[in-house]
Amino acid sequence: MDTIVVIGGGAAGMIAAATAAEKGRKTILIEKNEKLGKKIYITGKGRCNITNAQDLDDFMDNITTNKNFLYSALYTFTNQDIVDLMHKYGVETKIERGNRVFPVSDKSNDVIKALSKHLKENNVDIKLNTAVKKIIVQEDKVKGVLLHDGSIIDCSKVIIATGGISYPSTGSTGDGYEFAKEAGHTIKKLSAGLVPLEIEEDWPKKLQGLALKNIEMKITFKNKEIYSGFGELLFTHFGISGPLVLTASNHINNYLEKGKVHIGLNLKPALTQEVLDKRLQRDFVKYANKQFKNALNELLPSKLIPIIISLSNIPEDKLVNQITKEERMKILDLLTNLPMTSLRTRSINEAIVTIGGVDIKKINPSTMESKIINGMYFAGEVMDIDALTGGYNLQLAFSTGYLAGINV
Ligand SMILES: Cc1cc2nc3c(=O)[nH]c(=O)nc-3n(C[C@H](O)[C@H](O)[C@H](O)COP(=O)(O)OP(=O)(O)OC[C@H]3O[C@@H](n4cnc5c(N)ncnc54)[C@H](O)[C@@H]3O)c2cc1C
Repeated sequence: MDTIVVIGGGAAGMIAAATAAEKGRKTILIEKNEKLGKKIYITGKGRCNITNAQDLDDFMDNITTNKNFLYSALYTFTNQDIVDLMHKYGVETKIERGNRVFPVSDKSNDVIKALSKHLKENNVDIKLNTAVKKIIVQEDKVKGVLLHDGSIIDCSKVIIATGGISYPSTGSTGDGYEFAKEAGHTIKKLSAGLVPLEIEEDWPKKLQGLALKNIEMKITFKNKEIYSGFGELLFTHFGISGPLVLTASNHINNYLEKGKVHIGLNLKPALTQEVLDKRLQRDFVKYANKQFKNALNELLPSKLIPIIISLSNIPEDKLVNQITKEERMKILDLLTNLPMTSLRTRSINEAIVTIGGVDIKKINPSTMESKIINGMYFAGEVMDIDALTGGYNLQLAFSTGYLAGINV
């Protein structure tokens, strides 16, 4: 019987191998690490946001690159299918804010265990600590894979599920791009996706650890708005992170290549400028005889107060009843448009996903097979596909893995 080789024991490779084997194919899963699913282990801060429970039509809107290409994959192996698979192997799931699906145990390791059971139940031959060096192709047909120890596994079908290049310590070091390129595929430019932003100013670094919920962020490039969104932001030792920032990064990457972007935070997006001003005036009446530094406690988290005071250039010990209208307007401006500048994202090593990858133009969307090499299939992040945060990226890996698995 012909052998199917799956390269990469991540989310895509594990589903691909188990699916091919379930169909009765003799399947070998090759993983260069000492264990499977190293990246899954760190997903969702160790809790693994397995998928997103939205309707598939809405789900598709969260795919940032090559959404149409993914239609068949997502409708063949849906978000419900991965949840059912988890349940089959004893992992109960729960739905949290934003339709994010997690294991009830909050342990990503349970997801890895479930996928491992799926592989074992279907008798997949798992080879750990084994790295593929090259895919042997003759006359545009897959003939086998060459391993780093020099041995060759003969096969006529191979699924490349080697992932991207972010978090390389998990094993995703971009080997699949080389395999694809050698076979004649084009690789779309690689860049960091869903990645924190470095901030030029010093003050955000002083707020390290502070999370701001329900704020609005607007980003402009040369005075033109290029992104606006609501959500949660986290200050870090280098700048800003958190779901709002990671999502924004996918929209501003191209601009950062050309120069700096300007960020404005609206700390009170639920209030109009007018209502916020009235609120400020009420507080200033209430604290009329206090110093300015003691007048903002009801409006802002305590860590942020000295920053706003310093940016306003109003002396902290000025009595509130002496603050001028012009000064109050300055405070209002800071509360609704707190300015920062970003020159760059953090490096791709810290990105949640890799933007770019194997160009999908030469991949059949109904089978995941290469259109130019017979028997070469792709699954997961190695392709030029990516989505926003919320469980979408793992689902893309599962769905494309499944589609490749049933078609080999
Ligand atoms: C910190 C972090 C948190 C994340 N959280 C979430 C989340 O909660 N929800 C979500 O949907 N997405 C999340 N993602 C994104 C998601 O994890 C990835 O998109 C997804 O895991 C990609 O799966 P994959 O199978 O395509 O690739 P990978 O998981 O990268 O797997 C590729 C595998 O191939 C192996 N390999 C590579 N080259 C070779 C070779 N030559 N020979 C043998 N083996 C090889 C690697 O060792 C690796 O195990 C997160 C990512 C990061 C970095």
